[in-house]
Amino acid sequence: MEKKEMIYEGKAKKVYATEDPNLVIVEYKDDATAFNGLKKGTIAGKGVINNQMSNRMMAMLQEHGISTHYVQELSERETLVKKVQIVPLEVIVRNASAGSFAKRYGMEEGVRFEEPTVEFSYKNDALGDPLLNDSHALALKLATRQEIDQIRSMALAIDRLLTEFFRSIHVDLIDFKLEFGRLPDGTIVLADEISPDTCRLWDSDTHEKLDKDRFRRDLGHVEEAYQEIMRRLTKAK
Ligand code: ADP
Ligand code: UDP
Repeated sequence: MEKKEMIYEGKAKKVYATEDPNLVIVEYKDDATAFNGLKKGTIAGKGVINNQMSNRMMAMLQEHGISTHYVQELSERETLVKKVQIVPLEVIVRNASAGSFAKRYGMEEGVRFEEPTVEFSYKNDALGDPLLNDSHALALKLATRQEIDQIRSMALAIDRLLTEFFRSIHVDLIDFKLEFGRLPDGTIVLADEISPDTCRLWDSDTHEKLDKDRFRRDLGHVEEAYQEIMRRLTKAK
């Protein structure tokens, strides 16, 4: 499958049309941004790692009955996926406090929750991805009631599967962001990516951060953290 015209360039990926109107090619870049694009940089080799990790996670989820956009890895940085209409919600699942949750509620980071939380942000860069609830999403016609219910239950199922997988490589899954899309027949599938850009991943023993927080917070050893996650993934069953 060959790349045709670029149809979208985002902060971390480019999306290309193919000869098949139902398939697109995603190309992962090394560019990194944080704080709604205010902080910019590059993380050498990130695109390759995020591509390979995301595909591995999507394949694992698919095996466990989660429908995803994943079709086939084409190269180190390129993957063929089903073209979807993205539901403009950032779906965030949290197993412990961190990031904006810790800040918003004045809580220290790393406190485990009895049950995971699910929250939605309106995927809209101009507005800074504001937090919203189900009724807001309905009022804005971002998704139907049925879609919201399905997205929430898929997000929780994905959390259970990812948590178990990461535990096997000695990583605590603190939180992550998902995006879902609609296939032409309306079916909801998991889209976008699952990577250290979109997950908080802490070493289970040392609680060392192995994710994009190293870039956001200038913690150093950014590339090494992505490489360490990839190293563990490669060894995993
Ligand atoms: P952003 O738009 O936030 O800067 P990226 O740089 O990751 O993000 O760009 C990738 C874009 O592709 C995102 O807008 C994402 O919603 C979209 N996307 C992800 N998966 C698919 C898919 N299967 N079909 C169509 N668009 C997708
Ligand atoms: N996240 C993301 N993209 C975003 C916002 C958040 O991938 O635009 C991920 C982030 O990496 C973390 C989780 O979602 O794993 C929760 O992020 P949070 O709401 O704490 O926001 P942040 O601290 O990133 O501002």
